[in-house]
Amino acid sequence: MAKRDYYEVLGVDKNASADEIKKAYRKLAVKYHPDKNPGDKEAEEKFKEAAEAYSVLSDADKKAKYDQFGHAGVDGSAPDFSGGFGNLNDILNDLFGGGFGGFGGFGGGFGGSRGGQRQQKVYRGRDIRVRVKLTLEEIAKGVEKEISIERSVPCKDCGGKGAKNASDIKTCSACNGTGQVQRVVNTFLGQTVTYSTCQQCGGEGKVISNPCRSCGGTGLVRKRETIKVKIPAGVEAGMQMNISGEGHAAKNNGVNGDLLVVIEEQEHPNLKREGNNLYCTKIVSLPDAILGGEVEVPGIDGSYKIKVEPGTQSGTVVRLRGRGLPTVNGYGGTGDLYVKIAVWIPKKLEKDDKAVIESLRNKESFKPNPTKEDKSFFDKLKDLFD
Ligand SMILES: [Zn+2]
Ligand SMILES: [Zn+2]
Repeated sequence: MAKRDYYEVLGVDKNASADEIKKAYRKLAVKYHPDKNPGDKEAEEKFKEAAEAYSVLSDADKKAKYDQFGHAGVDGSAPDFSGGFGNLNDILNDLFGGGFGGFGGFGGGFGGSRGGQRQQKVYRGRDIRVRVKLTLEEIAKGVEKEISIERSVPCKDCGGKGAKNASDIKTCSACNGTGQVQRVVNTFLGQTVTYSTCQQCGGEGKVISNPCRSCGGTGLVRKRETIKVKIPAGVEAGMQMNISGEGHAAKNNGVNGDLLVVIEEQEHPNLKREGNNLYCTKIVSLPDAILGGEVEVPGIDGSYKIKVEPGTQSGTVVRLRGRGLPTVNGYGGTGDLYVKIAVWIPKKLEKDDKAVIESLRNKESFKPNPTKEDKSFFDKLKDLFD
């Protein structure tokens, strides 16, 4: 079958610029990519044809020969697919700047994986875990926190490439850019071929002859940065928020890790928390407990006035609906505030006070005389101590 004209294959004009040629190829490569067209022989042929055309037209020398002599001028310089598509992979990786994740597993699904074939790794940066201590007030309303972290970021001086000039990044000579080295071992069963990660390039397939001074060739530098994190209302100690992409950057312009924010809770001077409910104790005076009164209870967003009923026993619990904490997503509603009343018994009395209390000692109404209701209340209190 006669070969089609390379310009025709890529659908570009003979005067097309290098950039236009590259763009045209990129389009075709993505369209006919075997991962997108599994089992489609025609797409595979189109893909190969485009790769061949691009391998010639992207090379100034070959292009000049092709322009002058046609296919005869570049015969034998087309990509060799006989051993799989490793070299095609390279074309794509070069074209897409190496960090193109979609081609990572290419070899396996297309034409069979061949040991030693280069697998372009897409690196993922490490996660960063930080702990943030919040007050109950912050938890009640939600809060925006500024978190200072030191993380790896792409080196500005080399654009994360590790070298200032592209010409300083060379294909590794030890592995020919495959990132793996082949070893043939003769055994009595015959020859065995093993592959291992190339020592010279660490499996990258590339070596940097003149590393960027700012990052030492890693493409990454450490930087302390402040990140604003919105923490929703209602979070609990031990909860973790994942902030996607705010972790360490990865080499080869890979994918950033995440920032994991672990919530901690600062102890509150008056309030205790259990789930969405809050608990506190209010100490009231003896006259207030006997005669009834109004007292102020410190809550999470200011203080609330509560009524003390006449004859309130120590240990009585008053529930303030909706004065607790919200749930994180709001579905669970808002918790309540439980106030436990404790009656203050004076420790020091003045002389005339003593006389007043003494006069009450033998009064019938001051002798303990719990009703059935009161008894069940005291039973409940007893339960608390069991
Ligand atoms: Zn190597
Ligand atoms: Zn650098």
